[in-house]
Amino acid sequence: MSQKRDYYEVLGIAKNADDAEIKKAYRKMAIKYHPDKNPGDAEAEEKFKEAAEAYEVLSNTDKRAQYDRFGHAAMGGAGGFSGGGMNMEDIFSQFGDVFGSAFGGGSFGGSRGGSRMVRGTNLRVKMKLTLEEIATGVKKKIKVNKLVNAEGVTFKSCTTCNGSGRLTRVAQTFLGAMQTQTTCHACQGAGKMIDKKPADSDAQGLKRNEEVIEIEIPAGVEEGMQLSVQGRGNAGPFNGVAGDLIVVIEEAEHSELRRDGENLHFDALVNFADVVLGESIEVPIINGKVKIKIDPGTQSGKVLRLKGKGLPSVQGYGTGDQFVHINVFTPTKISKEERELFEKIKVSENFNPSVEERGKGFFKRMKDMFS
Ligand SMILES: [Zn+2]
Repeated sequence: MSQKRDYYEVLGIAKNADDAEIKKAYRKMAIKYHPDKNPGDAEAEEKFKEAAEAYEVLSNTDKRAQYDRFGHAAMGGAGGFSGGGMNMEDIFSQFGDVFGSAFGGGSFGGSRGGSRMVRGTNLRVKMKLTLEEIATGVKKKIKVNKLVNAEGVTFKSCTTCNGSGRLTRVAQTFLGAMQTQTTCHACQGAGKMIDKKPADSDAQGLKRNEEVIEIEIPAGVEEGMQLSVQGRGNAGPFNGVAGDLIVVIEEAEHSELRRDGENLHFDALVNFADVVLGESIEVPIINGKVKIKIDPGTQSGKVLRLKGKGLPSVQGYGTGDQFVHINVFTPTKISKEERELFEKIKVSENFNPSVEERGKGFFKRMKDMFS
């Protein structure tokens, strides 16, 4: 993936440009690099798409604020995912807002005579990841069953629309005869239809095929998050553009650690004598174990913070913490000697909370719990 250019630079505007300036700059770009004006020019098409993506982000207040703070990372650009990537279909559907309604819906100023690329459908796969994988990010190979263009398919011009991809209808209205154009239903606007196809392909010249796709999952993803890999979904009919592969993240439960956003929690069950006398105990963290010190006189319910031992943020900004919750283990079986010991402890003054301790409000006690 090549380095992405700054969106403001793409549109040639200042960082503090207002909505009108953004729109104006984008209009200029869209007209200059429009595919109808630059047929077969791949560079112009790239520029056209780049400008559309920049406009898509900068014209939206929320997206623009995110972009201003985090740059391209905020758009999900890390790890090879497409984030703001747009296909031609999206771009043309956006034109209604930019140029007025006359230009929306896949046509451009009425001059876009040619047929268009038909987009394949998106393919969704679930991917279960362990917390360890989420902590570091991971490359995964997955097998998908997707629609691909069958070999040996040949096309001819669509007979319904004569290859234009569109149908013109004249309707009588109270304003007089109105001419409307719609996408050809027979070819979905491709302007083509199948001439010859192998027996194992469907009516659109597609067939199912198993494919192994390698996916790079960035660190810090969460349950339910969706990552889209552009152009790796089902093939578009009539040699159109492929849909996206949507990867839905599932999180496997960890045997000891609990996740809360970027933070991790561990419930430590500690020997009663250890919180009284003090001790070093070993606790699990995401990539191993660490020793932590329990001070003499540690109260049950105390929470110790292991800074930076949580999970990285998916945007790549900072890492969470791990919290260790100290719980005193209460034995359920005790010997005769232990019973005698506890009978003594029970009446000992030191083992009974003082009036002052008891009198501490809830909030003061909570404050003491976190070190
Ligand atoms: Zn047609």
